[in-house]
Amino acid sequence: QSQEFSQARIDYHVALQSLQEHGTRMVCTGKMHTDRICRFDYLCYSSEAEEFVFFHSNSSIMLPNLGSRRFQPALLDLSSVEDHNTQYFNFLELPAAALKFMPKPVFVPDVTLILNRFNPDNLMHIFHDDLLPAFYTMKQYLDLDDEARLVFMEGWGEGPHFELYRLLSNKQPLLKEQLRNFGKLMCFTKSYVGLSKMTTWYQYGFVQPQGPKANILVSGNEIRQFAKALMDKMNITRAEEAWKDGESVEKDKGREKKDEYIVVFSRSTTRLILNEPELIMALAQEFQMRVVTVSLEEQSFSSIIRVISGASMLVSMHGAQLITSLFLPRGAAVVELFPFAVNPEQYTPYKTLASLPGMELHYISWRNTKEENTVTHPHRPWEQGGIAHLDKEEQERILTSKDVPRHLCCRNPEWLFRIYQDTLVDIPFFLEVLRDAMKTKPNLKKAKLASIVHPGRVREARCQTSVQTPNEAKLTVSWQIPWNLKYLKVREVKYEVWIQEQGENTYMPYILPQQNYTFSDNIKPFTTYLVWVRCIFNKNLLGPFADVLTCRT
Ligand code: UDP
Repeated sequence: QSQEFSQARIDYHVALQSLQEHGTRMVCTGKMHTDRICRFDYLCYSSEAEEFVFFHSNSSIMLPNLGSRRFQPALLDLSSVEDHNTQYFNFLELPAAALKFMPKPVFVPDVTLILNRFNPDNLMHIFHDDLLPAFYTMKQYLDLDDEARLVFMEGWGEGPHFELYRLLSNKQPLLKEQLRNFGKLMCFTKSYVGLSKMTTWYQYGFVQPQGPKANILVSGNEIRQFAKALMDKMNITRAEEAWKDGESVEKDKGREKKDEYIVVFSRSTTRLILNEPELIMALAQEFQMRVVTVSLEEQSFSSIIRVISGASMLVSMHGAQLITSLFLPRGAAVVELFPFAVNPEQYTPYKTLASLPGMELHYISWRNTKEENTVTHPHRPWEQGGIAHLDKEEQERILTSKDVPRHLCCRNPEWLFRIYQDTLVDIPFFLEVLRDAMKTKPNLKKAKLASIVHPGRVREARCQTSVQTPNEAKLTVSWQIPWNLKYLKVREVKYEVWIQEQGENTYMPYILPQQNYTFSDNIKPFTTYLVWVRCIFNKNLLGPFADVLTCRT
């Protein structure tokens, strides 16, 4: 029964006494249920009631203490998907005195992270909604270390990629259905509830059509650090790194081209590329590279990652398997194919990922524009895009439409019908799109060299004024370099000065290379000007403005 948590690691009586005396303690971060993560001492779970329980005593803490606002709509989101009404967390309350009449609690000694996986059947969702958020939630709280216990409360089974969740810590994650094995009442000695949403970049279209999140807070750096950590756990060294370690630079140059290869990620059951062999031949010929195919149906996940992590290009039909592009080396290309009538600009989880600053991937999309090259499946079940269940008129409308209009998640039949089509890729047209896009390949070397360090504020900003004639005045502004500049090698340092006449709502912007300047154009006598100064490194790294100067001519 409860052998998994050897109660020897904690003094059972001390724990029980502590729970009875002190009850549950909760301290949270976040102003709203959507950005909240809570830390608990002695949060309990009743497998009978299928509810978490907060025990009140004289020394309980509940911060925030929301009263019944705790149910409007919930204390917090248990998954990383924002404000989804099937993913809310809350607890029931009881006085600690009730423990006397309840089954003996089993204590969980491990520091536990309690969360909902959003859709553990789908690889994209696994990475975007669960693994990345859990990984960085664990980085946020130091005691969620390699020995942390994860508990998945969404109520699903392990799912097809449970081994990926096992990489997050050394302890076996627990599913909701397993909690009952530990008895009727379980108490988590120390636990965190909820997931950080800081790393998510996509919203799935529950309230507005799907697209990139409005305020993306993650950069390629964090995605790549996560990918590296996962690869270390899977014992994968990038093919690229493996040979760079042992070989001299001269040899590298010779080997470079020869060792480059393209990966075609194929789907074997739905959304097929009907002429895959032809596509593979064409790619090999066009780029003079080996082409390797991988598929989730035929290989282990880690062997796929091993291959992808050394590839120069990843080609695949739109679909969850494209999340593996986060394991591509810097400088690689991601080529995403879309079936007929599906607009690549409206379905951009992988484009957004590839385009995150610092991800350094080159994203290219191709769309089948020839209706004769698409194969539809109107008789399949609705969730695979079948439309036979719809009335004749609606079927007709869908069949004649050439573009899926914007729609909400998740059961739009026209969208499902189109996205589950198989495609015969028009090879000449595809190569043309690819060649065209590769021409404008962003200069990634340049991007790499560009510094990521932002300037500090300029210091000792001052202004001096003088009146020349009744119509002319001068305004001299000077400042010192930002403090951090003296420790940096920066290719180009410039300063931006904004001058605004007090009371006006426009300003004049100037970009200057030096640390002082005398303005006389458009400067009037006996007028008050507000002056802002900031430093800019390499054209686009903006520093903060110094305190505004008030200058009276
Ligand atoms: N999948 C696959 N081969 C297929 C079809 C699907 O490996 O032929 C995988 C896919 O990568 C995803 C899961 O099965 O992890 C669910 O696929 P679905 O088509 O439902 O979702 P999508 O790929 O559109 O996100």
